[in-house]
Amino acid sequence: MKILVINCGSSSLKYQLIDMDNEACLSQGLVERIGIEGSRLTQKVEGRDKYVLTVPMKDHKDAISHVIRTLLDETQGVIKSSDEIGAVGHRVVHGGEKYATSVIITDEVMKDLEEFSVLAPLHNPPNIIGINACKELMPNTTMVAVFDTAFHQTMKPKAFLYGLPYELYKENHIRKFGFHGTSHKYVAFRAAEILGKDIKDLKIITCHLGNGASLAAVDKGISIDTSMGFTPLEGLLMGTRCGDIDPAIIPYLMEVKDYSYDEVNDIINKKSGVLGLSGISSDFRDIEEAAAQGNERAQIALDVFHYRVKKYIGYFTAAMNGIDVLVFTAGLGENSPETREEIATNLEYFGINLDKEKNKVRGKERIISTDDSKVKVMVVPTNEELMIARDTLELVK
Ligand code: ADP
Repeated sequence: MKILVINCGSSSLKYQLIDMDNEACLSQGLVERIGIEGSRLTQKVEGRDKYVLTVPMKDHKDAISHVIRTLLDETQGVIKSSDEIGAVGHRVVHGGEKYATSVIITDEVMKDLEEFSVLAPLHNPPNIIGINACKELMPNTTMVAVFDTAFHQTMKPKAFLYGLPYELYKENHIRKFGFHGTSHKYVAFRAAEILGKDIKDLKIITCHLGNGASLAAVDKGISIDTSMGFTPLEGLLMGTRCGDIDPAIIPYLMEVKDYSYDEVNDIINKKSGVLGLSGISSDFRDIEEAAAQGNERAQIALDVFHYRVKKYIGYFTAAMNGIDVLVFTAGLGENSPETREEIATNLEYFGINLDKEKNKVRGKERIISTDDSKVKVMVVPTNEELMIARDTLELVK
């Protein structure tokens, strides 16, 4: 069966068509600037030149109809009929407390997703728009929702509760949810597979380090804690997000600087992180380059980032009473040996010994610890789309 995976953002959409007989990606693409001037679809098919289609796309339905048309296109396509698409798997950011696993999308699920939009106002609404557009265009195809929060629903109250009045949890759902779950799950299980071990015998810390970044503590295959929280703002320092700060800073800024709600929100989400500290960029490549040329603020931004990741490795090692495997994934985790070296050195106390030669790798699965390192340190490129397709297949079967 072939499964179409859709990841819908507010003005963009990523897709992959995966043949589940051999888990091969037949086509992958990106639609950008949906509803804005200059809408564009870019598709990559192995062994062919990149295909770019520039046509106005006024909304997500328009975008998805161009995706389907491209998949069916005589020269650029990879299938002959839309009937070949057995099911569609949608990435959905927030599944609240109700969804600990992926589900077939029904009217009830749609109602819940609308309800969870208050918890993820930037993410769930475009996800819903994408699902509705697909339902209109493929009314007879099964749709599945795969949630970023689901994998972390195994956290116990001691890990997910904040030290706030309990009613705020009960009435307003204020708790840690955690995100990037599909990625943490994929790389943790893949790491166990590569090591030839049963995941039930392993204590794994997964570091998803991209523009958004989070760590997860995966004990016996179960997420017991993660660094992101009620929203994807908590935890590590990120490209533009501040991560953990003293919550008192917010009312202080509103008082002293007279910042409005919107201004504070903008600062902590869009003007902080390595961008805010370095004053250079939110892109780690730019910052690493500036630091290498002696820019002090770039170096400070990197130092704060690495130190924060190290601290979370410490928290989670304590939480699991040990660590067997440390996994790096996502843009930075997969591609920056420098980042991995800064994070994984001086952790010998935990039994982590990085092999600097083996660490010289980008975007490939590899064990990068020394042969005698008690903890296996690994690079495992994430594959959220494949994980979504697997869950989708499982449910439609
Ligand atoms: P997201 O999916 O959250 O947008 P990604 O996982 O694609 O993010 O990661 C993007 C980040 O990874 C960027 O900050 C980028 O600079 C960083 N990155 C990608 N390639 C490299 C590289 N070769 N060296 C250092 N950083 C890299």
